[in-house]
Amino acid sequence: MAIRVWDYLPEYGTERDDIRDAVETVFSSGQLVLGRSVAGFEQEFAELHGVAHCTGVDNGTNAVKLGLQALGVGPGDEVLTVSNTAAPTVVAIDGTGATPVFVDVREEDFLMDTRLVEAAVTARTRALLPVHLYGQCVDMAPLREVAARHGLKVLEDCAQAHGALHHGELAGTMSDAAAFSFYPTKVLGAYGDGGAVITSDDDVQQSLRRLRYYGMDEVYYVVTTPGHNARLDEVQAEILRRKLTRLDAYVEGRRAVARRYEDGLKDLTGPGGFQLPVTAEGNEHVYYVYVVRHPQRDVILRRLEEQDILLNISYPWPVHTMTGFAHLGYAAGSLPVTERLAGEIFSLPMYPSLPRDMQDRVIEALRDVLTSL
Ligand SMILES: *Cc1c(COP(=O)(O)O)cnc(C)c1O
Repeated sequence: MAIRVWDYLPEYGTERDDIRDAVETVFSSGQLVLGRSVAGFEQEFAELHGVAHCTGVDNGTNAVKLGLQALGVGPGDEVLTVSNTAAPTVVAIDGTGATPVFVDVREEDFLMDTRLVEAAVTARTRALLPVHLYGQCVDMAPLREVAARHGLKVLEDCAQAHGALHHGELAGTMSDAAAFSFYPTKVLGAYGDGGAVITSDDDVQQSLRRLRYYGMDEVYYVVTTPGHNARLDEVQAEILRRKLTRLDAYVEGRRAVARRYEDGLKDLTGPGGFQLPVTAEGNEHVYYVYVVRHPQRDVILRRLEEQDILLNISYPWPVHTMTGFAHLGYAAGSLPVTERLAGEIFSLPMYPSLPRDMQDRVIEALRDVLTSL
């Protein structure tokens, strides 16, 4: 049987009754849009994070976009982020009319190099958008200092970091607002699309509510500033409520897979050779993806594919090199670490219900390939 980096069917096998009950709960509730399930999920997700507000939206891309807009980002502004992220981070910036500006990342853990941020700030910079990549947090203290010095807003992209801790603080609670995705592959995944923005700022919250509802005040039906239709679906919200109660177990399951990979592969690592994920100081990783590195990545992927182990790359092309962002004017070589990593990284299968025998097959096959290179 082929092994893929992600598969939700083993989980559905054990959660089927609960998921079906969630669907039935909504269908029989009499309220199919913005009903009890969205409101309930928003309250529970905010409580989990110890923040005042949560707004459920239709996906993670719109969570980033509406989050930025609610923080005042718009045409003419610049937003600082990284290029080794899921393209939607940058598509969302573009969607506000603002210009994305990229800083390079750290060689060790692939996270935003916060030492480079202040030099990239201009008179047009409006916000910083750190991406908690692969399941661990960007170093937030230096970012907050730069933001305070220059009067910038900070939005955390938490699409890959549900439940991740940074010096004891939950991802999403260390800035003005934070965007989450509940795309099915994510650490907290729906059975379809979903997203949310959390904040403790009442004004930001008010803007978010209008932005997801046409730009309308829900009570008076008057558009103040034209917005979007970006509502979280009621069925997905009910499924997410059920799954939220199991978030700790999902994270623990991912960490157990990570430990097994580490135990099975660490003796093969070496400088300039094979590398396992490095958890930065103060972080508790949730392993949205398990990203390893080797200079002969493409050979390894081909050899594993021959054994029906189908790995992937998160992400093969840095966003600044994509044709759709050519107008930003980044030349090849402008983000050297980001570009080098893109040619060497690859992801091992990672999800909490990944069967043990599959984990072992991956470890054995990878050991064979690595020792034969
Ligand atoms: C998945 C993801 C998004 C987009 O989420 P969608 O729900 O797919 O729109 C944004 N940013 C990052 C870092 C992501 O991983």
